[in-house]
This record gives sequence, C-alpha cells and structure tokens, in this order.
Amino acid sequence: MKGLMQDYQLSLDTIFRRAEQHYPDKTVYTGGPAPSRTTYAEWAARTRRLGGVLDTLGISADGRVGTFAWNSGRHLELYFAAPCTGRVLHTLNIRLFPDQVVFIANHAEDEVVFVDRSLLGVFLPLLDRLPLVRHVVVMDDLPPGAPGVEVPEDGRFHDYEELLAAAEPVEFHVDDENQAAAMCYTSGTTGNPKGVVYSHRSTWLHSIGVLTNAGIGLAETDTVLPVVPMFHANAWGLAHAAPMAGASLVFPGPDMSPQGILKLLQEQGVTLAAGVPTIWQGLLPLLDGVELPKLRRIPCGGSAVPKALSEAFREKLGKPILQAWGMTETSPVATAAHVPARYADLPEEDKANLRARQGLPLPGVEVRIVEPGSITPLPWDDEATGELQVRGPWIAAEYYRPDEGVQLNTDDGWMKTGDVAAIDAYGSVRLVDRTKDLVKSGGEWISSVELENLLMAHPAIKEAAVVGVPHPRWDERPLACVVLAEGETATAEEILAYLEPLVAKWWLPDAVEFIDEVPKTSVGKFSKKDLRTRFAEYHLE
Ligand code: ADP
Repeated sequence: MKGLMQDYQLSLDTIFRRAEQHYPDKTVYTGGPAPSRTTYAEWAARTRRLGGVLDTLGISADGRVGTFAWNSGRHLELYFAAPCTGRVLHTLNIRLFPDQVVFIANHAEDEVVFVDRSLLGVFLPLLDRLPLVRHVVVMDDLPPGAPGVEVPEDGRFHDYEELLAAAEPVEFHVDDENQAAAMCYTSGTTGNPKGVVYSHRSTWLHSIGVLTNAGIGLAETDTVLPVVPMFHANAWGLAHAAPMAGASLVFPGPDMSPQGILKLLQEQGVTLAAGVPTIWQGLLPLLDGVELPKLRRIPCGGSAVPKALSEAFREKLGKPILQAWGMTETSPVATAAHVPARYADLPEEDKANLRARQGLPLPGVEVRIVEPGSITPLPWDDEATGELQVRGPWIAAEYYRPDEGVQLNTDDGWMKTGDVAAIDAYGSVRLVDRTKDLVKSGGEWISSVELENLLMAHPAIKEAAVVGVPHPRWDERPLACVVLAEGETATAEEILAYLEPLVAKWWLPDAVEFIDEVPKTSVGKFSKKDLRTRFAEYHLE
C-alpha cells in the first residue's frame, strides 16, 4: 500500500518564501569596513531582483553562478537567487592557489562570477584563464571613496548595485527537488579538486538536520554568526538553516581577525557562532575577563576540536564548544557530539571526553566502520578502528565529472570518508585520524590527532601538529611540531616527559621541532601536507 501524501518538492524557494513571509523583520548584518544591516524583507526583495539580473545577463537555465566573496548579506542574496531561478550557485574558495581556482571555475563551467571589490586584486589576474566567464559582477564592500583595485573598463564588468537597481523582481519556482542547487569543491589532497553537487532536496533536508537538537539546534531565537566561510561547504548549512528557522544572521565580511570576531560577538548579540578550531584558538587569549552572556552555542568542526580548547571555553565563558563532524561531501554536518541524557550526572571531566568525540549521526545519517578495503562492518565497541563510511539523503553519491577511477561510494551504497574511526555501543563516532595523516610505525598505526590533543593541553603549547617522518627501521615515526604560547618556554625533553605517562611508549614522538606557526590550509585547518613536505628529509636516528 502506498502512502497518500502530497508529492511536495523540497526546493530552496520554499525556504526563501518562509523567511520572506514569516520573518520579514529579522535582520542580516554584515561587518567589515562598510558595515550594513538589512531585514529579511529587504533581502528577499533584493534577491528577487537578483534573479532578474541573472536573466538579464543571459545566464543559462542551469548555468553555474560563481562567487568569489566573503560572508556577507550580498552573498546570501546569491545563495538563493541562483538556485531559486534554476541556476547552480558555485562558491569559489578565495584562499586557494590561483591554479586551483582556475581549474575549479573552468571545471564547473562558471558563466559569471560575483566578486567582492576587496578581492578584485586576487581575482583579476585569473580572469584571462577563465574563457567561459562572460560576466564579472563587482560587489563593492569598501567604504565610499576607499582606495581599491580599479574595475577595468571592459564590457564584461558590472556593478552589483547598478544591475540590481535596474532589474525586475522575479517569481521563484523550482519543479524538481533533485535538481542541482549548489556546488562546492573540496581541496583534494590527492589529484585534482573534486566537485560536490548539492541538490535542492539534499540542502533542504540538511537544513532541517541542522535545526534539530541532535544537529546544531539552531532556532528562531538565535542570532547566528557563521565565521566558517560561505565558500566552505555552504558555511556548514547555516546560511540556509538560519532563514529557514527565521534566525537573524551576522556576517563578518572581510574582517576575520579575532578582534573583529570578538567585536561582533559583543555588539551584535550573537547567540550561536560557528567556526573551525583555529578561529576559537585565536580568540582564546582575548577572552580573559570577557563576558558573552547571550552566546549559547559554539559549533566547531572541520578538524578535531582539542579537548583543552573546548574546556578553556567552558572555563572562560561557561560554554563548551559543540563539536560536529562532516565533510564537503556530507553537506557537511553529519554527526554532533551532544552529551546524551544518560550521561548527565557524570563528572565534568567525563563529559569533556564525550564532547571530544565526533558524536552521534544526525537523524537521516547512518554510520559504519569497515575493515580497510572491504565492506565488512567492524563492531561498535569503541576499540575496533576502520574506515568511517556514511549514507543518507545529504551525502554525496559521486563527484561532478570525476577523474578516471575515482569512486566515492562503495558498491553497496556507502560513502567512503577517508577518515579512520571507532564507534561505541550507541553509535557515537570517535575519529582516530584521517587515513593519510595516520603515522605508520612498523606496520602499526599511531593517531596524530590524539597526540596533538594531548600536546595542546600542555599550558606552554599554543599549537601542535604531529606528522610521520621517514625512519630507517620503522618506516615512519611521529614528529611533533610545536608552537609555544607567547612568553612560554619548554624544551623538547620536558614536552616528551609530559607525554610519557599519557601514551603507549611506542606512540611517543621521536623528536620535537619548535616552529613559529603551523601552516594552515585555505579553510584554516592544520596543513599537515605542508609540514610533511617541510620535514620530508628529517633525519631520525
Ligand atoms: P578538506 O579538509 O579535505 O579540504 P573538508 O573540509 O570537506 O575537506 O574536510 C573534511 C574532513 O575534515 C573530514 O574528512 C575530517 O577528516 C575532517 N574533520 C571534519 N570535522 C572534524 C572533526 N570534528 N574532528 C576531526 N576531523 C574532522
């Protein structure tokens, strides 16, 4: 017997209309040198006209609409105008190497790119290598009269506000929920960057997942600050979930400095702020004596959240960090580490350990771990470790025009994450490492993540990254690359002596290198690839 319910399409225009009709008075604030505030009512009117702009520019029915932009109210207009007119939003990562941006924009076949004026200096040198880009629309995010890179005298260039003023508003309607809504490339540590194509349906369901209490628990009463870039996995879905919930939004614009973020937290009444661990690590030294009574939730992921970092937030602000795990390929939020009710009476230390896990899958997502290279599931005993695989309605099935031989899903329909994890009896995920970051010593695995977490709990250590370096006998041994906190001192011997009682003897790094800074990727994660290259010739006895 079939269910007798409507075949209602889960398309983004329904989220758009929700914000427009039910929450017209909620606000969208953009910081930076030319701050602005708008309401969802004004945003919706502008977004409808932006739909008209895409028509006027002659962007194809499912044409790719590139953005090269900070988190801003205008970027949010593009987030809806492109998919709600049937086009595909393509957020370009402004921090990638030029060759990668060129590859990605050409691979996605972007027809137009919307560029913040403050980023023109980065974008213009690429344009000659983007033959398919017919239009460049400049969004002026600088104060009037501010010096900036001149917009070239060239028919391809347009001013965002001028186009908008001249455009007619359009009706939004998308017939098919399975149509592409947006795309985003992952940096791809091996081979070329890989394109993930989100559908209306996947984005819609992911937004609901973010709203649930098992997810981020975002609500109408929130004022949401996505520090995580809108060019990185859709700002973790917050730019869709906030309008869906009717929550106000605060965007940092180009000012991502810790001082800038703190100012937004203090002055804009932010209740929910999300970013990668390096963002919160950067904010930590500024928090002494600071009170942020409105801030209630700090979702964080993208790389492991050190327990010490989460605990420092709990001590200073009274709120621990909420760890979530995901990937560009999982829309991205797939698990979140809420402390389950059964553990409510545990001591804080135990709860901190639970928060250091990646946590339970969101409703709609399923997880398993398998023996490497097989599809045999491993037990959920929190000890067995294997490749983490996931499935669900917002998990990618395949990449867009992948390189030869790249297969994202197993033959039985689970996505291979490339992460190594253990799962406890209730299904809570504990990530051990990324496959490529595990240190392989004499055929046994050492978790770089676990060593880093322990190192970063040392009071003298600001940042620590552990990489495998070649070893004549063991193939690879761990090298700890350590950044000391300002004004602190510690010797390699002291650091190793501190680790000694905390880990198995053979896990102990063979050496400690003091470095000025851990290199970061384009989205602010530790770039172990760079460290591995730097220390490729490292000589271990
Ligand atoms: P990339 O880092 O490859 O450019 P993503 O941003 O999609 O692409 O990163 C996804 C990866 O980030 C995951 O596979 C995982 O290794 C790591 N990651 C994300 N969240 C967490 C977390 N909470 N703890 C540990 N690792 C995480």
